[in-house]
Amino acid sequence: MLKQMENAGLTDLHFGLDPASGLKAIIAIHSTARGAAIGGCRFIHYAREQDAVTDALRLARGMSYKAALAGLPHGGGKTVIIKPEGDFDRRALMQAFGRFVDQLGGRYITAMDSGTEVSDMDTIATTTDFVSCTSASGDPAPHTALGIFAGIQAAVRHKLQRDSIAGLSVAIQGLGHVGHAVAQHLYKAGAHLLVADIDPARVRQCVEEFGAEAVSPDSIYGVQADIFSPCGLGAVLSPDSIAKLQCSIVAGSANNQLANDEDGNHLHQRGILYVPDYVINAGGLIHVAMHRTGASAAERDAKILEIGATLEHLFTEAERRDMPVHHVADLHAEQMLADAGHPQPADKERHHA
Ligand code: NAD
Repeated sequence: MLKQMENAGLTDLHFGLDPASGLKAIIAIHSTARGAAIGGCRFIHYAREQDAVTDALRLARGMSYKAALAGLPHGGGKTVIIKPEGDFDRRALMQAFGRFVDQLGGRYITAMDSGTEVSDMDTIATTTDFVSCTSASGDPAPHTALGIFAGIQAAVRHKLQRDSIAGLSVAIQGLGHVGHAVAQHLYKAGAHLLVADIDPARVRQCVEEFGAEAVSPDSIYGVQADIFSPCGLGAVLSPDSIAKLQCSIVAGSANNQLANDEDGNHLHQRGILYVPDYVINAGGLIHVAMHRTGASAAERDAKILEIGATLEHLFTEAERRDMPVHHVADLHAEQMLADAGHPQPADKERHHA
């Protein structure tokens, strides 16, 4: 396990047990070199405890990269709570988790992730201050969507040499909290939308509100569009789906869009500009982090819109060095962490949360 930590460049790993509530939690801290580690709390079933540890180790580094490129004074961390089998008292378990987080004295600030809700964050807040995404800070999705919109504008300027999105077509996969809000921004900017979701009601809503064209979930990859925006699942960019793409730009909110790092290279070889997910989808993180410090809405939105400028910088450098943008983004994040005193990972495998 220590070797796994070393390879992932992590600084510390904490195990929290509370037999009374059934809490079994792992907090992986990748870095605090730029500030307190921040990152979500995953609450799902795991077949083996080792799988839970691997997930925490794998996801913590991505949070450091995301926070660094968003210009936030934070490092990255991640919690995995192994969901108990059978009945359990969710409130007691989340309160025990809050006490565990509190023991770290602010080295780690927890947040929502798969399997946790705003109500869980509110419960955790009864036992620690080191929690974000509570009902006081509100839904991060609209802020994530604002960053996605700014990132799409930057990609359009760079790749299509256009200042306006009006008249462009965008294929959106996934119309949940973020996807619907992205659709709204794009509609207001005059884009033509092609939309897919496994939930037909969400598709109908976008057809009615934004005059979008409905596409089946299986066909969305192959539609003719300027931009493909994955806002549903992770790992959607694989050799199969990339071969179908008819777009110039891939830019969406989904986490871990590349099934493998090589798939990003494949997009580059096809001449498709892939906008790294962890850079473009940082708006929600910016919101929760800045809410903690009492920043105004205007300050927060200005920071979210900086995602566009950061991306333009990365696009230009990637072009100059003839490298895929996701590699340039990783190198920048690693440099920012190294400059702050964080040792670099021994391996070159890259995972992003
Ligand atoms: P959500 O659950 O509200 O929405 C996801 C949508 O994708 C749902 O409508 C779902 O039906 C749809 N979907 C699932 N499988 C699909 C498929 N095969 N084809 C088409 N649609 C499918 O989630 P969200 O909060 O909108 O987040 C969307 C993505 O963005 C996730 O990957 C999430 O991790 C990532 N993300 C979200 C935020 C945020 O602020 N919510 C921040 C950063 C990253």
